[in-house]
Amino acid sequence: MKQIKLTEPGKLIIADVKEPQISKPDDVKIKVAYSAINMEDISFFKQDLNRLLWSSPVGTIGHEFSGVVVDAGPAAVENGFSQGTRVTGTIYKFCGTCFYCMDAKENHCYNIKMASGTMSEYIVWSASQLIKLPDRISLQCGCLSDTIGNALHAIDRSNLRVGNKTLIQGASALGLIILQLAKMRGATHITLFDYSEKNRELALKLGAELAVDPLNDIIPSAVSIIPDMLGYDIVIEVSSDYRLLALAPKMLARQGTLLFSGTYGLTKLLPVTIAELYLKEAAIIPFYRSAYMLPRIKNIMDNLILEPLVHVCRLDEAEDAFRLAQENRYPKILLEFP
Ligand SMILES: [Zn+2]
Repeated sequence: MKQIKLTEPGKLIIADVKEPQISKPDDVKIKVAYSAINMEDISFFKQDLNRLLWSSPVGTIGHEFSGVVVDAGPAAVENGFSQGTRVTGTIYKFCGTCFYCMDAKENHCYNIKMASGTMSEYIVWSASQLIKLPDRISLQCGCLSDTIGNALHAIDRSNLRVGNKTLIQGASALGLIILQLAKMRGATHITLFDYSEKNRELALKLGAELAVDPLNDIIPSAVSIIPDMLGYDIVIEVSSDYRLLALAPKMLARQGTLLFSGTYGLTKLLPVTIAELYLKEAAIIPFYRSAYMLPRIKNIMDNLILEPLVHVCRLDEAEDAFRLAQENRYPKILLEFP
């Protein structure tokens, strides 16, 4: 079977490797249809060690996927994962018994394990890491399930209240799903920052009231675009761009909350003075990988507009696709496995 292997910084090959087989009763063998390229995959591709917070998944990279079941153990079949079932899932396997798992914070599990990477024609994962895709959801949109989980986690952590003025920095798929969830939750004055005009137009179609180029539009007149000149109650920074992280605290209203997720480099400091935080009584809340929320992801998928968020590249274009993903011209790039 075909599998993406990284060779040297900025280079990859499509290798022929042995197909994995099921060995445990709850194993599910999946033919991968799409695997997404995200920020961590790009850091692995560039071998940018300064940005890597964790090691690569077992054997190969990639952790966002959709696909079709081709084989399953008896326990997995009993749980509904038979041949032909369309699935997606989470690469993380939580132990279920440690302090954090017992406290519904599985994303901080002491014994977290990762399944094999998804940039591979076939993968074998446990049924407990999978959900069936709703009928209406295409395999392309289903590939966004992990991103939807992160967006749900961001909204949960934000304590966003009806009527809160909200700014989202970065029109990645994560930013644009957070935008849709924030609107559902009752956010107002929803504003999106992104460098790409195409992505800003998309944000307006998805419910943003204002879409701004953060470097060219706002730096000269930052205050003038802020609602009521007071700032945003909630700022969610997902651009992974340190310049925007630096800007984010300045966009906060008093008692506002800044949430951020992304890799800005291991040695970077948060660019804000204590006095600024103190005077604003601002809160800063990072959000890392999401806890176990596959059922919620499945429930909300039908209510999200996902089709315009994906751009598909063929497997034989993978190296170019990784380069394209670094340009942030598309919210999410998927690799199609034939
Ligand atoms: Zn645990």
